[in-house]
Formats: sequence, structure tokens, C-alpha cells
Amino acid sequence: MTSPGNTSADRPRVNLLGLSRRQMEEFFLGLGEKKFRAQQVLKWIHHAGVMDIDRMSNLGRALREKLLQVAEVRPPEIVSQSDSADGTRKWAIRVDGGGLVETVLIPDGDRGTLCVSSQVGCSLDCSFCSTGKQGFQRDLSAAEIIGQLWLAIQSYDAFQSGKGRIVTNVVMMGMGEPLLNFDNVVAAMDLMMEDLAYGISKRRVTLSTSGVVPALDRLAQVSEVSLAISLHAPNDALRNELVPINRKYPIASLLRSARHYIDAQRDSKRVVTIEYTLIAGVNDQPEHARELAVLLRDFPCKINLIPFNSFPQSEYRRPSGNAVSRFWQVLVDAGFVVTVRTTRGDDIDAACGQLVGQVVDRTRRSERHRAAAATQVIRVG
Ligand code: SAH
Ligand code: SF4
Repeated sequence: MTSPGNTSADRPRVNLLGLSRRQMEEFFLGLGEKKFRAQQVLKWIHHAGVMDIDRMSNLGRALREKLLQVAEVRPPEIVSQSDSADGTRKWAIRVDGGGLVETVLIPDGDRGTLCVSSQVGCSLDCSFCSTGKQGFQRDLSAAEIIGQLWLAIQSYDAFQSGKGRIVTNVVMMGMGEPLLNFDNVVAAMDLMMEDLAYGISKRRVTLSTSGVVPALDRLAQVSEVSLAISLHAPNDALRNELVPINRKYPIASLLRSARHYIDAQRDSKRVVTIEYTLIAGVNDQPEHARELAVLLRDFPCKINLIPFNSFPQSEYRRPSGNAVSRFWQVLVDAGFVVTVRTTRGDDIDAACGQLVGQVVDRTRRSERHRAAAATQVIRVG
């Protein structure tokens, strides 16, 4: 007999949006249903963009009613959406409990790269990162992570419009350290690559980490996504200052783990992307570039230089174009493939961590000047 305190209405519904294929199959088996129902529901949610269980017509009325009792499809809530003159689109997204994260879509020719957040804030406190300055609030659920991709596609009305793929690449480079939210990030990335969901190739899904070595070793056993390492310094003394987790897992152990990661892949041609944020007078000198070239001499990688993006609480500065070119040239002369990340969405502050800083500032202000502040973000819905 069901006790009054234990009715289905009291139990939280399962958010089907965040279930990987295996989890969805287990969910239906647990309901006493056939496994193939998982495939049908995955397609409804991730191919057709349907969140209303009642519209999933091939499930049959009885099953739909059963599902409505215990499950839901609930994406996170968009707080604001802004479009840059260069086509970059950025969202501030509110998650359960009130935290805010950012998601950015960067279109580039026939590519569309979505930058996805994994946590509200971050505990690792890198000295140049505005997300780190906010501290850690909580992990995002798998539904809140994959929900960012779902919302991005929906915002272009692209689920069924035949507009082609709006999102061709995903980078886990928004707020948070993805390897500190391991299970939810892996489940969400599985959905990104799953043919019954988004079918993005493993080469086009990239996880970026500041170097949580034990978790990276674990990732090698369960995932084949592309890997980016946030290095930012050519030696431990400097990296200890910029990326404090280096004190626990120094550069040699991180590079060993990253090499192990790509060695574990079936695809032998893969390389690690080394991210290096250039900060004026801190890590942008030619001697840093020379030291980096020696450090990475035998390491299978390409290098991505990111000129520092400033934010209000930081005293760091972005280097001059000349300083960036000099740094780039040293590495190119040493035989590396080196790209410089161009800043996109400048007019809407779409660079790493900037958006949410602003929304948070505005939210605080809005406690005092609610009406005035409301005009400063584009309200959606
Ligand atoms: N936590 C993960 C992923 C999110 S940060 C990581 O650190 O890799 C994504 C990238 O943006 C990282 O390479 C990070 O170092 C870089 N980044 C953070 N703040 C930045 C800033 N103010 N300017 C330029 N790059 C920044
Ligand atoms: Fe966290 Fe990455 Fe920012 Fe460091 S750079 S504080 S790991 S989000």
C-alpha cells in the first residue's frame, strides 16, 4: 500500500533530458517497459526537440500517462540572450536553486562551436579567471549540461527546420572544471556523440581541463572526446601562481596523464590542444615561449594562444598584438602548429566568464534598482 507521504506526486520526476542511452534503457526496463522505448524517447527529445511527453505520439496513450506520473523533460531556463554583430550568440541560464551559468555559440563559416558550462562557479581559483573569482556553488546536472545544447538549437528553431546543423562542435570551456563534475559531464558528452541524440563526432567534442590528473586518468577509460589542457605556463613555479591545482598535480604528471589519454584512444593520429592564456608581463615573454617549446618538444600537441580577456576584478592586462606575434613566432619557428584565439562577441562580453559576471552584477544592482536593471539584459520568455 502506498503511504500518503510516498505518493508519486511527492517524488521528484526524473528529468529525461539528461539520461544517456544506457540510463534511458535502464529507466524503461525499471518501468517494466521494453528497451526500444528509450530509442523513441531519445529521438523525440534530441532530434525533434519535443519536451511535451503528450506529443510523443508513438508511445501510446497508456505509456504516456505512466510517464507523465514519474518523468519530465525540463531544460534549464534562459534568463537573457544577446547577439553580437559578428554572429556570436550568448545566453545566461538559470539553473535549479538560482545559480547562473553562461553558454556561447560562435558561428564560423559552416561550423558552429558551442561553449558549454559544467559547474556554477569553480573551486580551482586560477588567478586570471573570473569564474574562479566567484567561488564554487554547485555541479550542474547532466540535464543542465546537455540542456545548454538543447536550448541553443531550439533558440534557432533548428530542431526540425532543415536549417542544417547549428552546432557542429562543442567545447567544455564555459564555467567550471568539467573533470570535477565527472559523471554528469561524461553522461552529457555521451549524449552529444550519441546518434540517437546529437551525433557529433568524438573529434568535435572537446573537454578542457586545468589538470585534475586522477580524473583525467579515469576519463581515458570511459571517453574518447578530444582533450585540451589549460597549461598557461612553461614551468611549475609560474604555473603554481596561475593555476593553483598545479601544486597538487605538477606539469610533468599532467603531461604524462594527457599522453596516456591519447595513447588510450584507438585513433593514433590524435593530439592534445595546449591552451595558453597570454597575460602581459606575466607569461608572455619570448623566454617563456622558448621554455614552452623545450617542454613540449616531444609532446603530440597543437598550441592555442588566448590573449587574456580582462574583467573588472582583475589587474592583469592583455598583451599587445606585437607581444602575441613574437610569442607565436618563437613556437612556429620551433615547429609547432600554433593558433591564436580571436576574440569573438566583444560587444556582448562573450569571452570566458564575462557574461555571468555582468548578469550577477546586474542582479545585485537590481535588488536596489529592479526596474532600471531589467532594461539592461534582453529578457526572453
Ligand atoms: N576549467 C576548465 C574549462 C573552463 S575555462 C579549464 O580551466 O580548462 C576555459 C579556458 O578559458 C581555459 O583554458 C581557461 O584557462 C581560459 N580562461 C579563463 N579565464 C580567462 C581569461 N580571463 N582570459 C583568457 N582565457 C581565460
Ligand atoms: Fe576553474 Fe578553469 Fe577558471 Fe581555472 S580557468 S578557475 S579551472 S574555470
